[in-house]
Amino acid sequence: MSLVAPQNSVMGLDSTIASLRICIIGAGMGGLTTALSLAAAGFQDIHVFESASDLGFVGAGIQMAPNMARVLDRLGVWDEIAKEAVVLNETSIRQGATDEELAHVDLRYIKEAFGFEHMVGHRSTLARGIQNGCLRYPGVKFSFGTLCEDVDVVSDRPSFTAIPRKDPSKEPQRVTCDILFGADGIKSVVRSAMLKHLEADAEIIDTNQAAYRIMLSREQMSRDPELLKLIDSDKVIRWIGERRHIIAYPVSSKQIYNLSTTQPDVNFASATNSQYTTKGSKKQMLSVYGDYCPMIQRMLDLVPEGDACHPTLPHLAQGAAQAIEDAAVLGVVMAKIPDASPQSISKALRIYEKVRKERAETLVGLAAASGREMHLGAGAAQEERDKAFAALRASGGKGHVPDRWADAEVQKMIYGFDCFAVADQLFDKEFGGM
Ligand SMILES: Cc1cc2nc3c(=O)[nH]c(=O)nc-3n(C[C@H](O)[C@H](O)[C@H](O)COP(=O)(O)OP(=O)(O)OC[C@H]3O[C@@H](n4cnc5c(N)ncnc54)[C@H](O)[C@@H]3O)c2cc1C
Repeated sequence: MSLVAPQNSVMGLDSTIASLRICIIGAGMGGLTTALSLAAAGFQDIHVFESASDLGFVGAGIQMAPNMARVLDRLGVWDEIAKEAVVLNETSIRQGATDEELAHVDLRYIKEAFGFEHMVGHRSTLARGIQNGCLRYPGVKFSFGTLCEDVDVVSDRPSFTAIPRKDPSKEPQRVTCDILFGADGIKSVVRSAMLKHLEADAEIIDTNQAAYRIMLSREQMSRDPELLKLIDSDKVIRWIGERRHIIAYPVSSKQIYNLSTTQPDVNFASATNSQYTTKGSKKQMLSVYGDYCPMIQRMLDLVPEGDACHPTLPHLAQGAAQAIEDAAVLGVVMAKIPDASPQSISKALRIYEKVRKERAETLVGLAAASGREMHLGAGAAQEERDKAFAALRASGGKGHVPDRWADAEVQKMIYGFDCFAVADQLFDKEFGGM
């Protein structure tokens, strides 16, 4: 199903509104989907600036939960992305040291409950699918290899300097627009400029955790029957241990097995690039998981080289999904502004904030809480947690799951949220009175 506007159409937007000059800094999942959502809403002058020379996104899988799929389906790009994604039918939470199963949760109810299956895929497929959607609209332009600096959010119209990174013959340009969206990730220059202007704190809080992102090919795993069983499954597995865990699932039509670890961070806190991603050390990784079971050791030993990252905690697998929901809500509220005045734009963006802030903060908090519970060491708290896992096993996988990601109540709150409908209703209710 696609509610996307046909090419060149303007969804009933007044021409002064449709021609507002919109700039987006950052072509991650958030920036790409914001461009698509605004183009689908009828905006015709959208320019995305990205410092990397292309979409990149090598080397990592991503969970594409129903709330993400719902947005991408409404924007007309989900079918292409879902084609090579893998449906997750079950989740298994296991002791890392022994591979003993602590809990098993059936995920097959998800499609019926939320309209979409819980799928996993390759990040590059997701990003390219969204970008392909953008390219259907002539009003969306991309400038890759362009670093944005010196953001001005104080003047009447926002502006920034766009610096071509790889072509010294091109001069930096000062770019001015009507609306500037900062989708520039964890070290956002837009957010820093805004918070500075508001004299607020722009400090990043260090979680002291890092993740290794690993992809193994079917060929690498095919010589080992136990590993082959993993890549052939429809299962997401979390192997937990004190202060660490590994989550793993097959992606790319089961041609790749994706693993993502989380452990105390001693090496990456000072990573300097914009996404906190840097090369990891295989030796270091093997020693961090040195007490995990032999099957996991064999799997980690297949890793040719490492990529490690250090952004927000990924334990609910919702970071990109939330950036994509942000983008959907921006499309809804911006399409409903009655005129192109800065006052109306600002009111619409305040409604965006009302729809998004509490939800995003709740999810960030839940992810952190889930991480704490998964990473418990021996003691009373761990005993309580393991009792909850035992009760879950006894009930055949129904009831509270200490790994919040797999808890049905949490899934309902996250996956059942229709951000389009919530934004639409809140706009109708509050815009007039603001
Ligand atoms: C290990 C791990 C696993 C995860 N798993 C999942 C999952 O399963 N499901 C899920 O939904 N989420 C997951 N996430 C979270 C998700 O990856 C991120 O939250 C999401 O990708 C953030 O998207 P974004 O667009 O906000 O930022 P980013 O992806 O960081 O994009 C920001 C972009 O802006 C560009 N940029 C930055 N500064 C500038 C500048 N000054 N000028 C120009 N360009 C600039 C950057 O190059 C980058 O391309 C995971 C995260 C990690 C670390």
